[in-house]
Amino acid sequence: MRVLVCVKRVPAPGAKINITADGQAVDTAYLAFTTSPHEECAVEEAVQLVERHGGEATVLTLGPAEADEQLRYAASLGVAKAVLLPITEADWDPQRTAAAIAGAIRDLEAAEGAFDIILFGNESADSGGFQVGVRVARALARPIVNGIKGIEVGDGSVRARREAEAGVEVYTIPMPVVLGVKEGINLPRYPTMKGRLNAKKVAVAQVAPVAEPGGQQMVTLLQAAEKSSNTVILGKGPEAAAAVVDVLEELGVLK
Ligand SMILES: Cc1cc2nc3c(=O)[nH]c(=O)nc-3n(C[C@H](O)[C@H](O)[C@H](O)COP(=O)(O)OP(=O)(O)OC[C@H]3O[C@@H](n4cnc5c(N)ncnc54)[C@H](O)[C@@H]3O)c2cc1C
Repeated sequence: MRVLVCVKRVPAPGAKINITADGQAVDTAYLAFTTSPHEECAVEEAVQLVERHGGEATVLTLGPAEADEQLRYAASLGVAKAVLLPITEADWDPQRTAAAIAGAIRDLEAAEGAFDIILFGNESADSGGFQVGVRVARALARPIVNGIKGIEVGDGSVRARREAEAGVEVYTIPMPVVLGVKEGINLPRYPTMKGRLNAKKVAVAQVAPVAEPGGQQMVTLLQAAEKSSNTVILGKGPEAAAAVVDVLEELGVLK
């Protein structure tokens, strides 16, 4: 089985995001970077699929040279191959990103054979456009289901489970297939020391991304409003009890 997992380098969740003075980019000076949580689960799923069915997993990202870090992290967990589509200039909107990824997949498949399963995260942790996986699937004329919380491989097809508002949807889809994985499908493992050492030796293939700008234009990024919370001291010792009861009643937690 050949599995490809696409990941994106994003600022670590919870970090305070500052915008550059020109409003065109996130100021990365003091940020740590990681892979989006959905994609951490997609990487784990890729590794588990190979453990169960044999074959090999490849990880791919389009991003700056520093995204090598995210590729090697995936390699430290058991992904065999890594591909970086390096970008230096701005103007990689989601259409262009997806077109470049689809083009790279076509080239990889021409050289080494089709991927049975291509995994994406449900959405990225920073821009959250829900676009790239769907656009790549469409460009490759393959079926896609997003929001996947369970994958079982059968004979030439995949049974994919998706949580819906009213219950669970189950799809049987012929391979090759594209799936958008949702956090919670599994519990991602941590890398072992051996995994980390192996990851240093993995040769990261560099493939120049080829795609015209998609037509979207950045106007400006805006700083999100700070969330504030108020702490009210209701009193000290037993005399605070009545005030606490009032608050609990107000919140509707007392009958
Ligand atoms: C006008 C415009 C200009 C932009 N310019 C830049 C720019 O210059 N540089 C830049 O970094 N961003 C840029 N962005 C943001 C960038 O377009 C998106 O971050 C990117 O296309 C992915 O879209 P998304 O984050 O909404 O991902 P989603 O569509 O939410 O992602 C879904 C899944 O697709 C996969 N995926 C997403 N992005 C990548 C990736 N890069 N590599 C591999 N897999 C991926 C992941 O598995 C992810 O979980 C720009 C956006 C706009 C609108």
